[in-house]
Amino acid sequence: MISVLGSTGSIGVSTLDVIAQHPEQFGVFGLAANSSVDAMLEQCHTHKPVFAVMMCEVAAQELQTRMPKALGTIVLHGEQALLRIVTDPAVDSVMAAIVGSAGLPSTLAAAKAGKTLLLANKESLVMAGHLLMDAVRESGARLLPIDSEHNAIFQCLPVNDEAVASKTGVSKVLLTASGGPFRNWSLEQMRGATPAQACAHPNWSMGRKISVDSASLMNKGLEFIEACWIFDLPPNMIDVVVHPQSLIHSMVQYVDGSVLAQLGNPDMRTAIAFGLGWPERISSGVAPLDLIAASRLDFEAPDETRFPCLRLARESVAVGGTAMALCNAANEVAVEAFLDEKIRFTQIPRVIERVLEQITVIEPKSLAVVEAADAEARLIAREVVANSLQTAEGA
Ligand code: NDP
Repeated sequence: MISVLGSTGSIGVSTLDVIAQHPEQFGVFGLAANSSVDAMLEQCHTHKPVFAVMMCEVAAQELQTRMPKALGTIVLHGEQALLRIVTDPAVDSVMAAIVGSAGLPSTLAAAKAGKTLLLANKESLVMAGHLLMDAVRESGARLLPIDSEHNAIFQCLPVNDEAVASKTGVSKVLLTASGGPFRNWSLEQMRGATPAQACAHPNWSMGRKISVDSASLMNKGLEFIEACWIFDLPPNMIDVVVHPQSLIHSMVQYVDGSVLAQLGNPDMRTAIAFGLGWPERISSGVAPLDLIAASRLDFEAPDETRFPCLRLARESVAVGGTAMALCNAANEVAVEAFLDEKIRFTQIPRVIERVLEQITVIEPKSLAVVEAADAEARLIAREVVANSLQTAEGA
């Protein structure tokens, strides 16, 4: 049985699509979302979960009212309910696909409970990588990366039966980046970028937050941090390579000169099916890759002058401690402010920079420490956003 957290989002919907293709193999125990009642109701009709959890109480009440009794789905709300559908002994696997830092407690709970953790929520690793990885090791949980780059790296590394990747013979991990919609834009053009333009990713269809992160290359920065934690790699073993076609999802270079790459059409159902079926391969509904039609694979170096978010994420790894959580929280506030048209696209890295300058980094010893750092970073980031509004500061 599986619980899908963030079921109404882009990853959640793709996960349920793959699950629906294998009704004999998977049963849905729990679905969780924030407030999208219509989508959740439809998913309950199709997948008949034991529990449907809404974070928002008002949304849960509406769902309860509209839920046909005959479906037998129990509607709950709030954080405790979320933890219940993660830790229940009937649950084997958890798809962690809530967006942003809101996904951390439930992801950590799945790891502590020893579940098979299909990890899409990269922010939980960025915020609390060592807590999450310790929990995985101590409980014997199995972590299968769903983020397409990490899924590709996982597929290119030697992996044991416990899903633990080995680095034997590995010289570098090559993390590919599409470059996003602004790959060829000047800084001046990016200054005037609208949320709609930032969300129009050339290759992937994703939620709005991760789409903006892709446009700023913060997504690659978060993935850089994620790769360090998942594969226990030092930062100097990871190179970012811009590959505009998004057909190679990442590569592993070995000491003998071999480079192994995982290719496929840019559709998250491949990585999701890999995670759901592991160690077997199951069909995903993704069309086979037509290399003749694709015809070209291009590569270039990332430009950290036009895309400072990648540099900021890298620097926060070098600083260590709570720096990565601060970077992540400041980015979430900045992206939200950009989507609300309160700041310019080019002000996103400036908000993050100010937060990293103003807050002292400490050791992230517990979830409480990480959550306190996250809250402090949000407070400062909101102040920076408010000040930049007052002074109409340009970036
Ligand atoms: P979406 O914005 O499409 O969906 C977010 C989901 O999270 C929705 O179901 C939403 O519910 C739910 N949600 C939001 N806030 C809360 C909360 N406080 N409590 C419970 N549920 C909540 O995001 P994506 O699917 O694009 O991304 C999900 C995660 O996967 C992110 O961490 C992202 O970085 C990662 N990821 C996504 C990829 C993609 O292709 N989309 C690729 C790789 C990683 P509601 O609908 O009610 O708001």
